[in-house]
Amino acid sequence: MLKMTANILRTLFSKKPTRLYPIEVRTPFEIARGKLVNEIENCNFCSICALKCPSQCISVDKKAATWTCDPFACVYCGICVEACPFKCLHQEQAQRRPAYERQILLKKGLPH
Ligand code: SF4
Ligand code: SF4
Repeated sequence: MLKMTANILRTLFSKKPTRLYPIEVRTPFEIARGKLVNEIENCNFCSICALKCPSQCISVDKKAATWTCDPFACVYCGICVEACPFKCLHQEQAQRRPAYERQILLKKGLPH
C-alpha cells in the first residue's frame, strides 16, 4: 500500500512522458523525413517516382500534367526523392498535420 501510494504521488508530480499532440508538437529531428513536397515547376512528369514508390501511392499523368500522391499510403521512405532525376521532390522535416478526412495531394504543372 505504501509502495503504491509512493508510485501514485511520484506519477502525479513528475513531468508527463507524452505530449498533447497536435496541440504540442515535438521538434523534429534533424534527419527526419517528413512531408513530401513536389516543386511542380521543375517536374517533367517522367513517372520515375511513381515506378519506384514501394507503396504505389504516386500517380503521374503526363498528358494532363498532374502529379498526385496519397499521403495516407505514403510511408515517407524517401525513395522517390532519391529517384527523381529533376530533383523536384524533397521532404520537409515537419510531419504532415493530422486530418479529419482523406486528402490526396494534387499538383498541376504545365504540359510538356
Ligand atoms: S520523378 Fe521527379 S520529374 Fe519525374 S514525375 Fe516524379 S517528381 Fe516529376
Ligand atoms: S516517400 Fe516513399 S512511400 Fe512516399 S511517395 Fe515517396 S517513395 Fe512513395
